[in-house]
Amino acid sequence: MNTLNPEDSLHSLRIFYLNEPERLVGIINLFNSYRNMDYPDRWNEVEKILERTGPFASEEFSPGPQVFDFVRNVCNVLVVGAGGLGCELLKNLALMGFKNIDVIDMDTIEVSNLNRQFLFRASDVGKPKAEVAAALINKRVEGCNVVPHFNKIQDFDESFYKKFHIIVCGLDSIVARRWINGMLVGINFEESEQDGSLIPMIDGGTEGFKGNVRMMVPAVTACIDCTLDLYPPQVTFPLCTIAQTPRLPEHCIEYVKVLLWPKERPDTAIDGDDPDHVRWIFDRACERAAEYNIPGVTYRLTQGVIKNIIPAVASTNAVIAAACAIEVFKLATSAYVPLNNYMVFNDVDGIYTYTFEAEKKEDCLACSQKAHPLTFSETDKLQDVVNFLMENANFQMKSPGLTASIDGKNKTLYMQSITSIEEATRPNLKKTLKELGIVDGQEIVVADSTTPSSLIFKLNLTSKMES
Ligand SMILES: [Zn+2]
Repeated sequence: MNTLNPEDSLHSLRIFYLNEPERLVGIINLFNSYRNMDYPDRWNEVEKILERTGPFASEEFSPGPQVFDFVRNVCNVLVVGAGGLGCELLKNLALMGFKNIDVIDMDTIEVSNLNRQFLFRASDVGKPKAEVAAALINKRVEGCNVVPHFNKIQDFDESFYKKFHIIVCGLDSIVARRWINGMLVGINFEESEQDGSLIPMIDGGTEGFKGNVRMMVPAVTACIDCTLDLYPPQVTFPLCTIAQTPRLPEHCIEYVKVLLWPKERPDTAIDGDDPDHVRWIFDRACERAAEYNIPGVTYRLTQGVIKNIIPAVASTNAVIAAACAIEVFKLATSAYVPLNNYMVFNDVDGIYTYTFEAEKKEDCLACSQKAHPLTFSETDKLQDVVNFLMENANFQMKSPGLTASIDGKNKTLYMQSITSIEEATRPNLKKTLKELGIVDGQEIVVADSTTPSSLIFKLNLTSKMES
């Protein structure tokens, strides 16, 4: 990837002005003065926006130099994720004048990131994304102070997240989004009781040529969990199609992955990064595709299907990150009315975008502050409850851990995250709720990676099966 190299540019200037040495000296002096300091008029354009009002200004906007001073010297922004969206966000925010930026990312740089995560170079492969991204921004944008955190979001507690005026997420994981959302719901509830300031969250997401931007104040406006059913479950193909009536190249690859592999190589788990595994699946998928006359099975697609890869598109990331950065700017300055509250972008076929207002959900898992009712029959097994929490569109949990107070004792019904407890509680999954001593009205505490705090469910236990 090309970067502007001052030495190269200087060299071209020397050749260009070979016959005008005086002008050359002047230009080189100017060049050097720019190279070592910030541009004197760097923030001209931003200041123009902030020092006068306009028809789209928000009501509380009072133009003047104090607004940019807030952006420059007071506002703390947290960028969650330093990947495709994160690189764009950091660059955009730094060039808008935001100076105090923190960035969290737990990943290290991979070769496949380099085509779009433009803050990284080939020599950075293996290094933490957050650290490399922060260092480059700090080097390129004079005065900017990006503080990197090579961490998981779960490594930090409330006291860390409370430091920020605005949090902007460029994540590729719904679980991580929900976790941050849950953290902000907690903080905002607390702050609103003490008349403190609420922390808004801007969330950007992309998938191939589609993307969305959301502006929310968790606990006040529609939050991530309020609209959980907007996240479709991962695309899977019906087994009967894969086995009997394949039509797409993906069906042929899935056939080998789901049916053939377990039969012929039962002792080995598929590793999408192992070329031998990919090749094995690819070869057999080709055979099946030939049998059904289906074109389009490639090695690359095979790897994509095995690893569930949706290709990342640099231009989609750029559009979504730009919209997110503008929302951060609007919130920090009140110069314009913020997005209300959900923007959809799609350039699969032409370009299409619209906005709508997602609504807060009465009984939202994260922000309603209500005990959530669950109805089961006493002959249902604990496994049914666990499956429901994982599969229901409103919950979509990953590995729920359930505890209940039974006969005055706190009892772990099932917990997946710690191996020894998982083994000890696994037999409970096959027991009915009645056998476990659960009664009608029982409160069950559920912990899951999708939320920083446990959730309380109230169990309505019916004595016969409801259809
Ligand atoms: Zn909610």
